[in-house]
Amino acid sequence: MKNRVRVDYGHVAENARRIADYSGKKILAVVKNDAYNLGIEGIVDTLRCSGINCFAVASMDEALSLKELFPDVYALVFNPADDGEIKSARERGVALSVTGERWFYEHADSLSGIDLHLKINVGMNRFGISGMEAAKRIVTDCGRLGLSLVGLFTHLPLAEESDLSGHDQEVELFCGFYERLSPLCDFQFIHAENTAATLLRDSRLDFCNFVRPGAMLFGCSSRERVNWLLPTVYVSSAVIDLREAPKDGHLGYGYKFFAPRDMTVAILPIGYGHGLSRARKAAPVFINGSPYRIVSKIFLSHTFVEVDGRVKIGDEAEIYGDNVRIDDLSSAGAASNSEQMLVVRLLR
Ligand SMILES: *Cc1c(COP(=O)(O)O)cnc(C)c1O
Repeated sequence: MKNRVRVDYGHVAENARRIADYSGKKILAVVKNDAYNLGIEGIVDTLRCSGINCFAVASMDEALSLKELFPDVYALVFNPADDGEIKSARERGVALSVTGERWFYEHADSLSGIDLHLKINVGMNRFGISGMEAAKRIVTDCGRLGLSLVGLFTHLPLAEESDLSGHDQEVELFCGFYERLSPLCDFQFIHAENTAATLLRDSRLDFCNFVRPGAMLFGCSSRERVNWLLPTVYVSSAVIDLREAPKDGHLGYGYKFFAPRDMTVAILPIGYGHGLSRARKAAPVFINGSPYRIVSKIFLSHTFVEVDGRVKIGDEAEIYGDNVRIDDLSSAGAASNSEQMLVVRLLR
């Protein structure tokens, strides 16, 4: 195989340990979308060996596959559950999010025996309760109905901005909810911080006993590059041909790219059909330790790289690894972390 992919599980375990140290909190690990396309089984197995037992996913389907693989883990679902999913949650011991006032009152009768986490909306406007009175009413009604309300959480969508003033207001809003709701209920799981928010290590959120990271477990920051997070995705290809392209000649389909000088072009047998994001063009490929620029476009099955006389057919080309990390491209706004990690799912 010319294209090779490796997930460094040792680095995943080490990142988890460092995140716990850095935050001083327990980890509720987000492993939605097949652990960001890295493969949920290997990732969860690794994290369990590092002492993590609490996981969150987007859908009930994901939670059920997780429980199938690892029956003893704690699994929380973010999406609103329908009737059938509520039944499965009870049978399989999956925790559900209270995603809205309407959802809660439509389903309140069938929620007994299920761990519930109350989601507060502070600005993401995806799921959650926005009003204080509604939140208090739900907490009180959970008590009255004997429901097992064990969690309080929010999602902070502005923690990756460089201007944190909006984020600050959203943090204050959540603090307000905590102050008013915590006397009414003994929450065992209080969580707000995704990767970007965890990195901010905000003491106002000291009342949260869990952080809820996804990307950073896999070595990706959603703010600037963080050197204490270790890369976990290693993807390489190999040079299968070398061509001479004369100055002003076109390369690839259409008249879209013209060689700005006489150039030697190496051809790699990897493209977007293998899940390689076209945004990967923004950073160089490393061959024998030196950086080389991707030219023309990334094609379905191929990528062109401008090289020099030191590169030979058969040389390995590092696409992701110690030199170029997934988050180098995501922090430049090129493509999200998990979009880029699709290459891992498609290549292995
Ligand atoms: C995806 C997600 C996370 C994890 O986000 P990262 O930025 O990958 O750490 C946390 N909470 C919720 C609700 C999410 O949807």
